[in-house]
Amino acid sequence: MADTVMVKPDLSFIRELKETGGDTLKQCYQCATCSVICPQSPDDKPFPRKEMIWAGWGLKEKLVSDPDIWLCHHCGDCTSYCPRGAKPGEVLGAVRKQAIQHYAPVKFFAKAVNDKSQLLKILAIPAVILFLAALATPGLNKALPPSLMHEGAFGNFINTWLVDAIFTSAALFALWSAFKGITNMWADMKAHSPQQPAGSLMQGLTAVVKEVLGHSKFKECDVNKERATAHQLTLYAFIGLAVTTTLGFIIMYFSGEESIFGKMLFLAMKFIGNASAVALIVGAGLLYLNRKAKDEKSGLGTYFDWGFLTVVLLVGVSGFLAQIFRYMGADNHDPNFLAKLIYFIHLVCVFYLFAYAPYSKFAHLFYRTTALVYARMSNRQ
Ligand code: SF4
Ligand code: SF4
Repeated sequence: MADTVMVKPDLSFIRELKETGGDTLKQCYQCATCSVICPQSPDDKPFPRKEMIWAGWGLKEKLVSDPDIWLCHHCGDCTSYCPRGAKPGEVLGAVRKQAIQHYAPVKFFAKAVNDKSQLLKILAIPAVILFLAALATPGLNKALPPSLMHEGAFGNFINTWLVDAIFTSAALFALWSAFKGITNMWADMKAHSPQQPAGSLMQGLTAVVKEVLGHSKFKECDVNKERATAHQLTLYAFIGLAVTTTLGFIIMYFSGEESIFGKMLFLAMKFIGNASAVALIVGAGLLYLNRKAKDEKSGLGTYFDWGFLTVVLLVGVSGFLAQIFRYMGADNHDPNFLAKLIYFIHLVCVFYLFAYAPYSKFAHLFYRTTALVYARMSNRQ
């Protein structure tokens, strides 16, 4: 006689899935159309049909440690062909959100960042820190010797050393959170997945980075081809902004702006920074419009998606406006109130985006990359 398998459904997990975009999951009758349609699904143990039944049964441990949930790019092909309107693409999106919360090391942020009613509380953290930094700036600027005064454009408003200290701390917190999350996920994938990774981690990572940069898998989607282009543009915008920040650090702490080298770096920083900001606004704007236009076919998403996209857009727009208002002012080194206000909003948004990255939709960057490496190393792709 076959062994009896006990299924222990996690009812609160089912409820959370339903509340966060997976409300249609019980409509699935396991016809497998979605797995046949999905351009990302491997032939062996395809998805998302099996994930739909696991979701219906509330098998949280199985789902959050399933690398396949990250092979999905939320293109919506399966949702648009599902005969029952079960929206498997949306259900997988809800599962990924639960996985991010499950692996997040600080549960308060995992809950608060993705809960609309907590938005003010979560924004208040950077707002208060930056406000205190602005209050401390006049005294600090007076106390600092001229050789250590890095006023910059807004240095008289919020001291640049303080800004760097705040954002370095935020980046370290984000890196620690991401590291904890992905190492725990990797251990769970190994414990629960029938396929074990083998071979060189570096080779797997290199191949995945190439794939991500080219968006080769994403472009195989049908219903939402345009989303791949917009997503790729947004990714390149972030890479450009990372290069801009690095150049800013080199200029400020090593080369200065006065030498020929410093001037060239400054010009490069301005060019890459502005081009990246345009790419960010256009890319995120297209993603926004695409979700609205394809609502019926591929699903609209939830606050988890919209909240993140809105912050990305705000970062791009506020960065641009802060620069424009600064140059419009009479004194470039003492910007007017509006320029300072926009700069403050920009800093709050940037803090939100990066410090909370492992807790928001941004975390898909780390978790998807990890799962893709796992899948590649275990011959899943
Ligand atoms: S989600 Fe839809 S297409 Fe997929 S198995 Fe269920 S009913 Fe069929
Ligand atoms: S949303 Fe796209 S990638 Fe994800 S399971 Fe459906 S068809 Fe596959």
